[in-house]
Amino acid sequence: MRCDALAFHPRLTIEMNQTLAAPDAASGVLAGSVATEATAADAPPPSGAEAESEAPVPKPVPAPRSADLSTDFRSPAPGYWPDVPPALWNDWKWQLKNRVTTLAQLEQHLVLTPEERAGVRVAGSKLALAVTPHFFNLIERDNPHCPIRRQVLPRLEESLVQPWEMADPVGEDHDMPVPGLVHRYPDRVLFLVTDRCASYCRYCTRSRVVSGAGEQELHTNFEGAIEYLKAHTEVRDVLFSGGDPLLFTDDKLEKILRSVREIPHVEFLRIGSRVPIFLPQRITPALCAMLKKYHPLWMSVHVNHPRELTTEVKEALERLADAGIPLGNQSVLLRGVNDSVEVMKPLVQKLLRCRVRPYYLYQLDLIQGSSHLQVPVSKGLEIIEGLRGHTTGYAIPQYVIDAPGGGGKVPVNPNYVLYHDREKVVIRNYEGRVFEYPDAGAVREIRAVAGISLPDAGNPRPLPTVDDFYP
Ligand code: SF4
Repeated sequence: MRCDALAFHPRLTIEMNQTLAAPDAASGVLAGSVATEATAADAPPPSGAEAESEAPVPKPVPAPRSADLSTDFRSPAPGYWPDVPPALWNDWKWQLKNRVTTLAQLEQHLVLTPEERAGVRVAGSKLALAVTPHFFNLIERDNPHCPIRRQVLPRLEESLVQPWEMADPVGEDHDMPVPGLVHRYPDRVLFLVTDRCASYCRYCTRSRVVSGAGEQELHTNFEGAIEYLKAHTEVRDVLFSGGDPLLFTDDKLEKILRSVREIPHVEFLRIGSRVPIFLPQRITPALCAMLKKYHPLWMSVHVNHPRELTTEVKEALERLADAGIPLGNQSVLLRGVNDSVEVMKPLVQKLLRCRVRPYYLYQLDLIQGSSHLQVPVSKGLEIIEGLRGHTTGYAIPQYVIDAPGGGGKVPVNPNYVLYHDREKVVIRNYEGRVFEYPDAGAVREIRAVAGISLPDAGNPRPLPTVDDFYP
């Protein structure tokens, strides 16, 4: 790593020094979810030499443990909250009110590393720390490599900004005709209805606006968005996201769904949500009954690791499926979380058992401060290769790169086509065996161009054989 390849968060030097000098100074660092420590104005950016000496070296992440690869569904409750009665525990509003948001709360339950402690201290300037008790229970107390903690606990490395990383890595802000409405693709839009989530993922593509802790704010213009949708008759598909739309009350969410559903040319509604995973208690029968009124309505959930599929999550997903909502999953490929076939295979198989179709595997967007979670594209291809043919076809997600700056999702696949010309295609299967497939359609085109008559209904002739292609 070259020091000139890095830009540093201006708080880095101060925070590292504070952390290393006083690792137990836990109290009063965060006010609510937002850190209140020194600001950029208090500390000059480190020089290149300082930066080089202070840049943390990424540590190797050990192979997954067998417990992480279990295909069992387990409940983590009550976990770190042994005294909470089930009625409260199962109340989604209690879960939200009792999220873990401070360093002191974290240290009450977990053994933190210096990198995590320092990460929490700077988190509030970028993306708040918040983890629901349900999801927090999945974090191992003293395993710094726990794949759950890597997703939701801030780390010092978030302060490192590589030159190729961006605040808005997929260029959504450029494609926003109305605040909160992203219109990039011809027939569909992304409607960002809130900036709040049940818990915050450290690699969130929208961390520039999500949680309200960063410099940018989301001010969705609901009326303007509805007027835009009414006027744009080409829009047939509306994806509600944020933030997480399922954090709204049933009434508020229904009002938004209804206002879009009433637009005649909108055929199809989708909700993107990680609430069924972070906060399965929110998927109440009443919510499902409300959602059911707005079909066709599909939902994309977000699960990265098989351990996230708990008993409670499975039941929540089943309630959604029973309400007729087709479910797809979007995983993000994350270093030390799911960057192996050994982890991805039980994940996709467990998803099918929850009636969720693995839909996308995303290459991590080039979000600022995410390089410690980045996985080489070759590893993503290796994972798809290790799934294709080795498990159910329905279980295999499409691996995609969301093209930086706003090019949209581009599918990326292992190369199964070894050779292709106008007469044949040479392919390999999942076992590496090679096959030649005569491209009959192309041969017919060649013959038509050459004026060779082709069989038709009035002049039936035998279809071409392999000998026709290789005389
Ligand atoms: S739930 Fe989705 S929107 Fe919210 S922080 Fe995670 S990735 Fe971002």
